[in-house]
Amino acid sequence: MNNKQAKLRSLPKVDESLALLKSYPEIKTIPASLMKKAVREIIDLLRQKVLQDESIDLPEDNDEWAALFLQKLQELNRDNYRRVINGTGIVVHTNLGRSLLSQSSVDKLVDGAMHYTNLEFDLVSGKRGSRYSLVESIICDITGAEAALVVNNNAAAVFIALETLASGGEAIVSRGQLVEIGGSFRIPDIMAKSGAQMVEIGATNRTHLYDYENAITEKTNMLLRVHTSNFRQIGFTSDVSATELVELAHKHDLLVMEDLGSGSVIDMSRFGLPVEPRVQDIINAGVDVVTFSGDKLLGGPQAGIIVGKKVHIDRIKKNPLNRAMRIDKFTLATLESTFRSYYDIERACEDIPTLRMISDAPETIKKRAQRFLRRFKKKYQRAMAVKVADTASMVGGGALPEYMLKSSAVEFIPESGQVTHLERRLRALDIPIIGRIENDKFLIDFRTVQDHECLEVADIMAECLNSFS
Ligand SMILES: *Cc1c(COP(=O)(O)O)cnc(C)c1O
Repeated sequence: MNNKQAKLRSLPKVDESLALLKSYPEIKTIPASLMKKAVREIIDLLRQKVLQDESIDLPEDNDEWAALFLQKLQELNRDNYRRVINGTGIVVHTNLGRSLLSQSSVDKLVDGAMHYTNLEFDLVSGKRGSRYSLVESIICDITGAEAALVVNNNAAAVFIALETLASGGEAIVSRGQLVEIGGSFRIPDIMAKSGAQMVEIGATNRTHLYDYENAITEKTNMLLRVHTSNFRQIGFTSDVSATELVELAHKHDLLVMEDLGSGSVIDMSRFGLPVEPRVQDIINAGVDVVTFSGDKLLGGPQAGIIVGKKVHIDRIKKNPLNRAMRIDKFTLATLESTFRSYYDIERACEDIPTLRMISDAPETIKKRAQRFLRRFKKKYQRAMAVKVADTASMVGGGALPEYMLKSSAVEFIPESGQVTHLERRLRALDIPIIGRIENDKFLIDFRTVQDHECLEVADIMAECLNSFS
């Protein structure tokens, strides 16, 4: 009789284990189906482990088994999708949900979720209405465009615009703009899928107006510009401005489309950042169709916004794919409220969290870090070195990739070799704290920690690190 079989036989039965758990108060509010799942998963896991290696230790008594089950239950019973603390300093962090919404957007979101709305009901005529008409005029006011349409995200916006306006013909694009944005969105691939024939021109680093001109044939229907977003070319480079391209295109009766990516509607240089063309500037230059994201520099919900000349936007609206990419009522509510903020630019800069975080002065961030540290030190009972230090954060979301914003971090300096362990512990919390590791230190950048979160984060961290070893 070998050890392995004895061990396998000693594994508890599911029913016995469920009975055992009954005496633990922690399980009171937990659904029976989840309890069964937790118990099964633990027993299966240990069975696999014994099969692989008969020398592993199994729990020795009921309490040890219960502890394992309860830990698993806690894991299964907490939401998979939940709040985290962004201590990375990256404001538009795609993996952490990009933009936070303004208070007015959140209020509208909740209101629209709890009540019926006029989503597709025209309150004037009493007849069926269009969801898009609720935001179109506001988007036009802010961007200066004649017409607007919103779809699920900017990738969808680029696709449906190309599919409507360029499929079956040739679209000319500079080799320097054939970019890949994260998550496998690549301009050449999206063009191929849309049915537009891509005509690449220029060299990687330099494209001239005559490159476009020489490539125009009777099959051409579009000149496409793409914002290079998350990558920059430096050195011996040149490309063609929107104005020049528009002049050339219109001379040949072609249209110009621009995928602007982040698409800010305010001048970022007011925050001391490098100048980025605003959506209005591109529209003013005469570009026929412009697409951009709702949740990057605009600071709203995930959406793809298409603005431009009415004739083209009308064609896109009629594309049957439009229905497949339509936005839901939550996006509509928060997008309207985000755009509304921009009627008063000063208010937008205060109300829209993405803009507020990008524009926060280094001294403001430092004060936040210091406030955190004072509270942390009050609650923390051990000896790890912790201090406020200068750091640099980034805008993120593919905007201004090379630009660093002066910021402040709190640095945690655990014993050598412990920093990855510490990082993992903080990531495993109910409200995970996501920071970054630099030179064996763990950093929390306070640009992206909200004012109202500061003390809470200090408490959570102190509690976690008081038991850190
Ligand atoms: C981000 C980006 C996209 C994709 O936008 P999503 O809103 O993430 O779908 C497309 N093009 C450019 C240039 C971008 O920067």
